[in-house]
Amino acid sequence: MKEVILCKYGELILKGANRGTFETVLQKELRRRARHAGEFRITTRQSTVMIEPLSDDPLVSDVDEMYRQAKLVFGFAAVTRAAACEKSMDAILATAAAYLPDRLRGCKTFRAEAKRSDKRFPLTSPEIAGEVGAVVLENVRGIKVNLVDPDITVRVEIRDTEAFIHAGQEKGAGGIPSGSSGNGLLLLSGGIDSPVAGYMMAKRGLNVEALHFESFPYTSELAREKVFRLAKELCEYTGRMRIHVVSLTHIQEVLRDSCTEDYFTLLLRRFMMAIADRIAKEDACGCLITGESLGQVASQTLAAIGVTDPMTTLPVFRPCIGMDKEEIISISRKIGTFDTSIEPYEDCCTVFTPKHPKTKPEIEKVLAEEAKIDWNGLLEEAMQTRYAVVARQYGDVIYENENKDGKGSC
Ligand code: ATP
Ligand code: MG
Repeated sequence: MKEVILCKYGELILKGANRGTFETVLQKELRRRARHAGEFRITTRQSTVMIEPLSDDPLVSDVDEMYRQAKLVFGFAAVTRAAACEKSMDAILATAAAYLPDRLRGCKTFRAEAKRSDKRFPLTSPEIAGEVGAVVLENVRGIKVNLVDPDITVRVEIRDTEAFIHAGQEKGAGGIPSGSSGNGLLLLSGGIDSPVAGYMMAKRGLNVEALHFESFPYTSELAREKVFRLAKELCEYTGRMRIHVVSLTHIQEVLRDSCTEDYFTLLLRRFMMAIADRIAKEDACGCLITGESLGQVASQTLAAIGVTDPMTTLPVFRPCIGMDKEEIISISRKIGTFDTSIEPYEDCCTVFTPKHPKTKPEIEKVLAEEAKIDWNGLLEEAMQTRYAVVARQYGDVIYENENKDGKGSC
């Protein structure tokens, strides 16, 4: 018996002239992951990608790992393991009897469904479902039919070249294929929100790059490593991610020495947005992404966002803006970044924090504060500190230019 993995497209990408491009992106992404799970053949037919192991030996073709990987790829609405067989009722019933008892272990109730894309198949869908249902009742001790709310649904699909039998189809990662919406620059802190924001926009087809600000020695090497680890965790979904790192140390010291304390954070955030705007444009990113959530802290009030937003002409995507912290945390747990995010390292935003940050800043006062410093000079100087690393799903985080302190990987 041949067991394969079926990955089914979401509705959205069935439409439009881009379908061919989407299919190529999805196949490429599965191939990249398959290289680490072993030997597989990947083909596309009828809005479904089929992944076939080339060996029965899990050391050569690790189907469990390939299945786990397929569930992480944006663009698939559903993913399932299935037994493939010849398109005859005898073969279907024999395969159902051999394959399903294992898949239904622990289930008390089931429902059987069938779908014929090949309408020439002699039996109707209800007839096929009825016969397969009878095989299940014969072969799985104690199981009962429940059409309304079963523990598991058994499905038979009669497709153009083969029939497939499966049980326990799962949701895919959803969204649209990586890169199909262009590039975005994620402002990535070490917190909970920004990795979630990056994940959400990657799911909408953005190829996400990251920008991290540090403030060494006020922020530590450990804080930087934590951010690199978060980026690597996001690579489970994105494959790879370039992280630009810029130092804000001198800017923060100048703000502390020259400006009114209540404005520190806002002034700093205006620098962050301006630097992000520059780097995004140099790197062909069409938008910025932040983890801001309205009203979460002083710098995320409507008025505060109103004075930081104009520092970029790019659209700023803030997918967490309308979410409560609990909602953001639940996504963070689901995507696997939460445990790293809560490690207690400092962020540059928490260096020299004002006791009474402005929650309703006025732009005239902000501009007056900025007039006290050599704003352009500081921005250029910060840009000079920039370097980049690349995080990858498989492998270490590596420095993009090997000249960074002579290091090749970190
Ligand atoms: P987060 O989990 O994103 O850190 P937060 O509640 O700590 O959430 P803030 O520190 O106020 O949020 O920052 C708001 C947003 O600004 C972050 O979501 C992130 O996009 C960006 N940001 C904050 N600190 C940094 C940093 N050191 N480097 C890059 N971006 C940052
Ligand atoms: Mg933060």
